[in-house]
Amino acid sequence: MSKIIYERPVITKLNTGISNKFGTRTEYTPVTDIDGVSVKSIIKEHGSPCFVISEKQLRKNIRSAQRAFKTRYPKVQFAWSYKTNYINAVCNVFHQEGIWAEVVSGFEYQKAIQNGVPGNKILFNGPDKTTEELKTAMENNSVIHLDHFDELFEVSAMAEERKQKTRVAIRVNMDTGVYPMWDRFGFNYENGQAWNCINKVMANEWLDLTGLHCHIGTYMLAVSAYSIAASKLCDLAVNIKSQWNKSIEYLDMGGGFASANSLKGSYLQGADIIPTIDEYAEAITSVILNYGFKQNELPLLILETGRAMIDDAGYLLGSVLATKRLSDGRRATIMDFGVNILFTAFWYNHKISPAQEFSHHTEDMVLYGPLCMNIDVVRESITLPLLSKGDNVVVHRVGAYNMTQWMQFIQMRPRVVMIDEKGEVHIIRERETIQTLEQLESMPKHLSSFEL
Ligand SMILES: *Cc1c(COP(=O)(O)O)cnc(C)c1O
Repeated sequence: MSKIIYERPVITKLNTGISNKFGTRTEYTPVTDIDGVSVKSIIKEHGSPCFVISEKQLRKNIRSAQRAFKTRYPKVQFAWSYKTNYINAVCNVFHQEGIWAEVVSGFEYQKAIQNGVPGNKILFNGPDKTTEELKTAMENNSVIHLDHFDELFEVSAMAEERKQKTRVAIRVNMDTGVYPMWDRFGFNYENGQAWNCINKVMANEWLDLTGLHCHIGTYMLAVSAYSIAASKLCDLAVNIKSQWNKSIEYLDMGGGFASANSLKGSYLQGADIIPTIDEYAEAITSVILNYGFKQNELPLLILETGRAMIDDAGYLLGSVLATKRLSDGRRATIMDFGVNILFTAFWYNHKISPAQEFSHHTEDMVLYGPLCMNIDVVRESITLPLLSKGDNVVVHRVGAYNMTQWMQFIQMRPRVVMIDEKGEVHIIRERETIQTLEQLESMPKHLSSFEL
């Protein structure tokens, strides 16, 4: 252990802010390594900031989610939600664990194909699928998850023209008791739109209704919402059986399970209030099992869970650029990462740990990012030890959505590394350079020179 640094005594000005039931004092422990690899050595080798994915944690999450469902239901298939994190190395960990691909755009579709996912194991979701992309999906025998009637009409015209029986699923939205309702995607259950769509598909000789799909929201804290959703999809499946004598191949319950992050404004810590994967699994599987399907007609259960699988396998390492006092006396700490690469800071209070030993003093402070832009606040108020220039921190549970929603604004995107199960560190996405950006630009001739 290195020498403990001296810190001058401090008089702490108290600020109002959200305190928890334990008061403002919060116990911290430094996080000096991830999976046995020292944080400082990763920063030294790969720069700061740097995203880190733990392959070990990722596989652990995948396996426990699969176990939760497979021990309760005989036919289960997970599909990885590409938009949650589509770095190829990450996707391939999922595929190695037997997981299909769930994509919501043509570009994600291409990624899945290039990663080697067979077309019939790609579920094609989303409101925006071009004619060209639909054609590719048909050629590859992927299931097209219909989002709106315009898409249904286009797909049925294409299927007829191509004389190809095309596999489709219908995305259903519904009232699950959680508001606001996500009714902008798919066809509504309560007003009969979903049933109307089902009948149109069933009556069409070129369409093969393979599945029913829903994705009722994200970071869902009420497992009861999944019970309601499952029973509504089962109701449709049973009606399809009785009116069209057709057994639906799969029910796809989408994603939306919460990760252990804490939402802003939440009184309790995320980890203390979120349901476990087993509770979600129990809510969904017991409804389907008890619904009355004949044993040989029990549908395959598909899950597209995103954030709950990967959030806690991702870390962001960063450094303190400077500290200062604001005009009202508050302490401010300027980090080298901001909302540019930590998009989820807009709705989560991430757990942030110092990466070195520190004294027992803590202070409420504002954490700013590096951008020259007023909105770049990582945290309005956080109690941390007194970090100083050059100190490092570890931001926890950042695996979901940050590496896809990050923006190249003022700063380039940093490296992403993966620690494998043996503790070896691999670069899985290189840091961006000015070439990365400028390769897409071009200069009209008349603008190519100037004199000043
Ligand atoms: C985004 C998305 C998911 C994953 O959602 P999470 O909340 O991350 O679990 C699954 N299915 C569809 C259709 C999606 O759009």
